Amino acid sequence: MTLTIGIVGLGLIGGSMGLDWRDRGHRVLGVSRRPETIERAIERGACDQASCELDLLQSADVVVLCTPLGVMTATIDHLLPHLADSAILTDAGSVKAPIVAAIAPRYPNFVGGHPMAGTADSGIEAALRGLFVDRPYVLTPTATTPPAAIETVAQLARDLSARVYQTSPDRHDRAVAWISHLPVVVSASLINACLADADPELVAIAQSLASSGFADTSRVGGGNPELGLMMAQYNRDELLRSLRGYRAALDAAIDEIDRQDWTALGDRYTASQQARPKFL
Ligand code: NAP
Repeated sequence: MTLTIGIVGLGLIGGSMGLDWRDRGHRVLGVSRRPETIERAIERGACDQASCELDLLQSADVVVLCTPLGVMTATIDHLLPHLADSAILTDAGSVKAPIVAAIAPRYPNFVGGHPMAGTADSGIEAALRGLFVDRPYVLTPTATTPPAAIETVAQLARDLSARVYQTSPDRHDRAVAWISHLPVVVSASLINACLADADPELVAIAQSLASSGFADTSRVGGGNPELGLMMAQYNRDELLRSLRGYRAALDAAIDEIDRQDWTALGDRYTASQQARPKFL
């Protein structure tokens, strides 16, 4: 079925969705904050029509909020008066419980969503075709979310060639703390701990020698700072829980190395080697 899809926030995620949904034959209406973004989104083919005004979205069947987390609930205040009665609302936010709690009571035809793909870049220039191919797209309906709205958003996710999962907002936030938000803190801490070495010449040598291993482990800590900050602010409790678990694992490894307990350390590495394929 061909739909008219409104996208609010034409950056990496919103722009990438627009590119792919237009390729699948949907009509895409885009709203963003800055006029230059509107102009580029049209030039890049991410929207059929675009505006800085939310009243453009009156004819949308589905509206996807793709703004930064910090402005999502404020955007809702301005958006709701412009939506058609039957319009389905969803969002792309990386944290779900506070967003669902803020929007679902005000707009029952709302389905929380999280397309789990990204790059280190942001803004409309960073938008990419095929960003969501074979990536998880999590839906977080509540007990009162209309099944037809869930199915429509699930189909739009499948139109991006994403793999659709469903869970509760709380369980989503607990799971992504482990596999997405904790890695940002770990990765940023790795970079910062290395820079804090008391010997600047040694840091310069380390920077020259850094290769694929450092590239893999530092990637998410060297990404968009605003996004990392939002994850910590909006998923604070679950991030702290996973950080404490990580600290316990790190302390155990430090202790084993300190005591030269190579058997225990080897067992630890064997366990992580065997477990990794279950994550990826
Ligand atoms: P982004 O590249 O910074 O894009 C967000 C865009 O929203 C900006 O380009 C900005 O466009 C626009 N915007 C800001 N304030 C606005 C407002 N008040 N009204 C309308 N538009 C506004 O960020 P992103 O990475 O696409 O992230 C967007 C959402 O997706 C976030 O909620 C994030 O949690 C979620 N997400 C991100 C990733 C990721 O890895 N990046 C992955 C999954 C989900 P202007 O140029 O017009 O200012």
